[in-house]
Amino acid sequence: MRLVSLLLLLAFFTSCGAQKNKKHTQYLEGTKQYAVSANAFSSYITAFEKEAAKNLSEPNFKVGDIPINFGDTTKDEFDGVCNTYSDGTKEILIKKSWWESTDKTQREIMIFHELGHCRLGRDHDEEIVTTSSNKTYKTSVMNPVIPHSDIYLEKRSAYLTELYLYNKTALLESFGIN
Ligand SMILES: [Zn+2]
Repeated sequence: MRLVSLLLLLAFFTSCGAQKNKKHTQYLEGTKQYAVSANAFSSYITAFEKEAAKNLSEPNFKVGDIPINFGDTTKDEFDGVCNTYSDGTKEILIKKSWWESTDKTQREIMIFHELGHCRLGRDHDEEIVTTSSNKTYKTSVMNPVIPHSDIYLEKRSAYLTELYLYNKTALLESFGIN
C-alpha cells in the first residue's frame, strides 16, 4: 500500500526543469560538463532523431552536440533539465535516482521533452483539455509535468506530431475533441 502511494506520488511529480511561468532552461556560467552522451541514453537519442526525420521531413536530422548524462539538476523537483551555458554550449542532465525508479516510456518522454527544449528550442506548453466525459489530457509532451505513460503510448504518434510540428489536430481528435 505504501509502495503504491509512493509510486503514485513519484508519477505525479515527475517533472522537467521547470517552474510555472519561469524559464524552463537553466542558464549557467561556464561550459558543459560532458563531451558525449552516456550509453544509457543512446537508444532514446536515436529514436528522437528518427521521429524528427519523419515528422520534419529532414532525413539527416541529428541531435548534434547536446550530450545527455546523469547529473545534478540543481533543484530537487527537477528530474531532468536542459542547461545552456555562457559559452553557448548545451547539455541535458537527468537525475539518476529518477531514471532508475521509472519505466522506459517515462524515460522516452523525459528525453524527448528535454531535447524539445535544447534541440527544438521549445518552451513549455501547459495546456490541459477536458473531454465531454470529463477526462483531462495534456496536449503536449512539453507540459512541465510530463504525460502519463499509458496515455502517451496510446497516442504517441499524435504527441510527436505536436512536439515537432506544433500541430495538435491529431492529438485533439484522438481525445475526441475537435
Ligand atoms: Zn521542461
